[in-house]
Amino acid sequence: MLRHGTRVNLILRHSPHLPPRTAPTLHRYITTRVSVQAPAKVNCTRPTTTTTSRVPKFASRTLATTSTPPDLASVIAAVKMSTPPQQPPNWKYTPEEVKKSANDMAASFKKLDDQIGAIPIEEATYENTIVPQLELENTTALPRNQLTFFQHVSADKELREASAEAEKILMDASVESTMRHDVFQRVEAVHKQLDELKKTLDPEYIRAIEKMYKGYVRSGLGLPEETRKEVEALNKRKGELAIKFSNNLSNDTSFLAFTAEELEGVPKDVTDGFEKTEDGKLKMTFQYPDLFPVLRSAKNPEVRKKAFLGDQNRVKDLNTPLLKETVEIRTKLANLLGYRHHCDYVLEDRMAKKYENVMPFLEDLKERIKPQGEKDIAELLPIKKADYEAQGKSADYKDVLYVWETRYYLNKLLEDQFKIDQEKIAEYFPLQNVLDKSLAFFENLFSLKFVETPKDQASTWHEDVKQYAVWKYDTAEPVFVGWFYLDLHPRPNKYGHAANFGIGPGFTDLKDGSRTYPATSLVCNFTKPTAEKPSLLKHSEVTTFFHELGHGIHDLMGTTKLSRFHGTSVSWDFVECPSQMLEFWTWEPEQIKHFSAHYKDGSKMSDETIKSLVATKHVCDGLHYLRQVHFAMFDFGLHNKGIKDTPADLDKTWNDMREEIALVKNDGESMAGYSTFGHIMGGYDSGYYGYLWSEVFAADIYYTRFKDDPMSTKSGLDYRKAILDRGGSRDEIEGLKEVLGREPNNDAFLKELGIAA
Ligand SMILES: [Zn+2]
Repeated sequence: MLRHGTRVNLILRHSPHLPPRTAPTLHRYITTRVSVQAPAKVNCTRPTTTTTSRVPKFASRTLATTSTPPDLASVIAAVKMSTPPQQPPNWKYTPEEVKKSANDMAASFKKLDDQIGAIPIEEATYENTIVPQLELENTTALPRNQLTFFQHVSADKELREASAEAEKILMDASVESTMRHDVFQRVEAVHKQLDELKKTLDPEYIRAIEKMYKGYVRSGLGLPEETRKEVEALNKRKGELAIKFSNNLSNDTSFLAFTAEELEGVPKDVTDGFEKTEDGKLKMTFQYPDLFPVLRSAKNPEVRKKAFLGDQNRVKDLNTPLLKETVEIRTKLANLLGYRHHCDYVLEDRMAKKYENVMPFLEDLKERIKPQGEKDIAELLPIKKADYEAQGKSADYKDVLYVWETRYYLNKLLEDQFKIDQEKIAEYFPLQNVLDKSLAFFENLFSLKFVETPKDQASTWHEDVKQYAVWKYDTAEPVFVGWFYLDLHPRPNKYGHAANFGIGPGFTDLKDGSRTYPATSLVCNFTKPTAEKPSLLKHSEVTTFFHELGHGIHDLMGTTKLSRFHGTSVSWDFVECPSQMLEFWTWEPEQIKHFSAHYKDGSKMSDETIKSLVATKHVCDGLHYLRQVHFAMFDFGLHNKGIKDTPADLDKTWNDMREEIALVKNDGESMAGYSTFGHIMGGYDSGYYGYLWSEVFAADIYYTRFKDDPMSTKSGLDYRKAILDRGGSRDEIEGLKEVLGREPNNDAFLKELGIAA
C-alpha cells in the first residue's frame, strides 16, 4: 500500500466485471430435500485434485469430550498428528494441459448453456436450471484459478504463455455465456418462482438466484432484441477503449532529461539507474521508481514541477478522448438499462447501494477533514520557506503549497523533525521473525493453527513456496480450514508486487453435503536472505504484509455453502475493510515491540524509536485523505450526469476540483492527471470512494472491538464469525452491525485523524 500515493487494490480477482459464471468460486448446500439433476461434468484433462470428505474425528478423547475450546498445546499435538481431510491442489501442469483444460472448460460452459437453453421455458426449475450452473461454478473454480495463476508465478515461460492464453479463452467463453438470452429466459422463469422457493431453500441459495438473475439483467438481457444488440456493441467498444487506455500507459516510454546537477538531492542509487541521453543527460522516466524519488528529494523546485507536470500530461492527447468516449458510453448504457446514470448502475451492486448514500458521505469527509488539511499546509509552509532561504531563493518564495511540492516537503518534515531512519528500523524486522509472529498473531486472535508442510512433501508451483495446512480450534475438535501458500521472494518474471491470489474457494457439495476446502496464496517480493544478512522489512512493508495476510485469511475462512460467496467474494467497496483494519495492529506500540527483534541480537526496539515511529502515522494525513476525496468526487463528477452534461473540459474540472477539495494549488498550470488515472477506466469507475468507505468501517470495528484490548480472543472470534466466515453470503452491513452491535459510523475514523466527531 502506498501511504501517500494512489492506493492500489491488491486483492486480485480473476474476472471482476462479469456476472455469475465468472465467479471464481461456488458452494452449495441443500437444506431441504430437493431432487437434483445430475451435475454437469467438467471435462478437463486434469480433474480437480481436491478430494472432498468430511472432517475426520480426532482420536483424542480429551478433545472430543470437552465443549469449551481445548488448550492450545493439546490442539497443536492433535493437529500435528492428524492428516488434513483434503489433499492440497496439484500443481503439475504442462503448457499443453493448461491450454487443453481451458478449452475443455470453455466447452463445458457452452455445453451447459445449450442444455439449459433446450429446456422448455415453462419447465424451467431451480433444479434443472440453477443447480447445474452452481455445480459447474463449484467444480471449475479451482482449476480455473490455477490455469490463470501460472502466468504470474511460473518460472516456465511456456507455462506462463499458456496461462495467459487460458485466461483469454476463459474470459471469452464467460462473456459469451453471459450473453445467452435463451439461458436468461430460463433463469428468469425460475426467478418468478422465488416466493415459492423461499419457503424451502436456504437464504444463501435464494441470494444466488437473485444475483444470477440480476447479473443477466445488468448485462442487458432483459431488453428488447434491438436494444440488446446496441448494448452488446457498446460494451464491446467500451472494452476496446479500456485496453487502449491501459496500453497507452504501459507502453509509454516518454521521459525527461536532466543534468546531474539538476537532480541534486535524489539518492545516487536511483540516478545511477537512469539511462543517459546522447548529450550525457539523465533520463527520468515516469515509472514510479524513477519519478517518486525525484518528487520526494530533488532540491531544485523547477525540476520537481517539471517532473510532476510531465507525469500528469504524458498521455493526455492519447487518453483524454478515450476517457471521454468511455464516460459517454457508460452513461448511454446506464440509460438504456433504466438507470439515471452510471453511478446508480454501479452502486446498486455495492454495499453502498445508492448514490445518495455515498455523496453525503464524501461531502461530510471533505468538510470535516478540511481543517486538518489546512493545518498540514500550515505545517509544511515554514519548511518550504526555510528551504527557499537556504537555497538563496527567498525572492521566489510564495506562501502557498503547490500540488507538485507535497511529497518533497512531507519528506523533509519526516526526515528533519521526526528523525526516522527507516533502514535502522528495518533491522528490527527480519522477515522470518515477522512471518512467525504474524502467523502466531492470527492464530491467537482468530483461534487458528498454521502447520507448515515439510518441504519435500509440499505441493507447490515453485521450490521457494511454503505450504501450510490451516486449522481452527474454537470448537471442541480442531476443524480443517484449508491450504495456505506463501511465495515470498522475487524471481525473474514473477508478479512484481505484494498480493493475495485466491486459488480455490471452499464449498459444500450439492448432492452429498461433503466439504471442499479452500486454498489461497500470498505472492510477495521480499529480498532473499543472504549468508550475511536476513531479509529485513521496513515498517511500511510489515504493514503491507499484514494487510495482504489479512486478505489471505479472509479468503481462507469462508464457510459459505456456495463458492461464489466464499471469502473475499464480497462487495468491492467492502473488500479492503478486513485488511485495512489489520493495519491498526502494526501501529500499536505494544505490538511493534512484540514484533521487533534485531537481526543481530534479537533485541527489542527502544520505546523512544517506537514513539517516533508511531508519531509519523498521521503526518499530513489531512492532505492525504483530501486527495482521496478529490479522486472519488472527480470520479463521481464524471459519471453522475446525463450524456449531454459530460464535462467538456476535463482539465478544468480536474484542476478546479483539486484546488477546492485537496487544497493544493495549480498555479494556473493545466494538468490532465485523469488521463493516467487507471482506476476510472477499469474497475473503479464510480467506485474510487470504496477505499474511503471501507476504511471508515475498518476504523469503526477496530475502535469498537479491539482498541482497548487488541488481542481479545472473544472479539477476534466474534469478528471472524460475523465477517470473515460469512464472505459474500449476506449483505455486508449485516455482519458489520453484528460485530459493532449498532449501525456503523465515521466517528472512529475521524477520531483516529485527530478530528472531533
Ligand atoms: Zn488490499
